Amino acid sequence: MAKDCVPELLARATEELEAEFRELPPSGEPLSLAGMEWVLEAVAHRLRDNYPYFHPLYAGQMLKPPHPLARAAYALAMKINPNNHALDGGRASSAMEVEAVKEIAGMFGWNEFLGHLTSSGTIANLEALWMAGQMAPGRRIVGSEQAHYTHQRISGVLKLEFASIEVDERGRMSLEALEDELRKGDVGTVVATLGTTAMGAVDALDEILKLKERYGFRVHVDAAYGGYFGLIAEALEEPARRAYAVIGQADSIVIDPHKHGLQPYGCGCVLFRDPAVGQLYKHDSPATYFTSKELHLGQISLECSRAGAAAVALWATQKLLPLVPGGALAQGLAKGRRAAVELDRRVRGDARFDGLAAGGPELDIAVWALRAATPEEASERAQKVFDACALRGLHLALVQLPRSLFRIGFGPRDSMEKGSGDMTCLRSVLMKPEHEAWMGEIWERLSAACGEVVGT
Ligand SMILES: *Cc1c(COP(=O)(O)O)cnc(C)c1O
Repeated sequence: MAKDCVPELLARATEELEAEFRELPPSGEPLSLAGMEWVLEAVAHRLRDNYPYFHPLYAGQMLKPPHPLARAAYALAMKINPNNHALDGGRASSAMEVEAVKEIAGMFGWNEFLGHLTSSGTIANLEALWMAGQMAPGRRIVGSEQAHYTHQRISGVLKLEFASIEVDERGRMSLEALEDELRKGDVGTVVATLGTTAMGAVDALDEILKLKERYGFRVHVDAAYGGYFGLIAEALEEPARRAYAVIGQADSIVIDPHKHGLQPYGCGCVLFRDPAVGQLYKHDSPATYFTSKELHLGQISLECSRAGAAAVALWATQKLLPLVPGGALAQGLAKGRRAAVELDRRVRGDARFDGLAAGGPELDIAVWALRAATPEEASERAQKVFDACALRGLHLALVQLPRSLFRIGFGPRDSMEKGSGDMTCLRSVLMKPEHEAWMGEIWERLSAACGEVVGT
């Protein structure tokens, strides 16, 4: 592990913070470090039972280490442990949340809006669909088959009917299938995913907005994973670029700073284009302090207690790395995307593998299949290559994808069934900037592991 700069950063800032409260009389029991030391050592040993998420050889699931500054700011805020459920629970951290969220909304071109942080993308989506249900009571929610699985579950919680729309050969929501649903006349909200979790597909938001003009519905954009890619739109392919160009026309947007925003877990964000939705949150908790005149965070969120430290970490990160095209955060995203494109290129040049038939990664997720005589064998091989990679210290992910997305044919029986059904594939989320420089090493290990499994 590289030397950690957080303790040093934190030590100095902690002294500054303590000095801010120097007028207080001393309080609290003296603590014995000895008791804590061995426990913390035990924690260090227990934590070894993890994949090395922080290292570029971890190239599997959607995991990215928080920025050291975010960790330091979060830990510093822990001295206070503010609660952003209400202004009086954490005045400074609430103000920092308002500022940080405004910067995120600005990335989508929004000035007047309503929005706040949440504990996660799931809770942010729950809140967006809760609003959607109130704006269009009794009407259905639709999203693609590749939309995050929680949309269906959330709709169930909200007692709203949810329908899945099939995807096209790129894993994007099929516009024909969507229009078929819209013709039924009872769709209240379309969930467009800008960056699906499994393969990073970008739904054609521009086309969905055209359908909105004809059929009338709310558009919720789930950009929990993909939201920041608007900063490098010029590095994306044309269809994705068109979708990001109109993201500001959505009615609501969800983005997860704890995915691509370099934050520790516990940081999602929901934004509504029309601030008037604030009226729908009305509640009168006797325990929530209402001393401020403005709508405060506790009045515009579904959750009550929420980590103020998450807002502090986000604020600090965005001060260092502003959300602007060409900035360091954007450059980091571009590196991960180039890594995914490069991995896809190598996969396509190797007879043992098969890339998606319709084209390479739209964002920074690469998916590919193993060539074999039958889909069952291809699935089995993917599992074995995954295991063999892990033994070589390279951690990839597995994903179930429709066979129809791949070119490989599996003989007459399969073509009779039109290649329907899912197949196990390999997946790599290349979301760390270092992944670009490590691609040679990643490929060597993958290639060797595959050689061991298929014998070539
Ligand atoms: C990760 C993700 C979610 C869920 O967010 P959590 O923060 O994990 O709760 C929702 N939608 C998409 C597209 C995601 O990638």
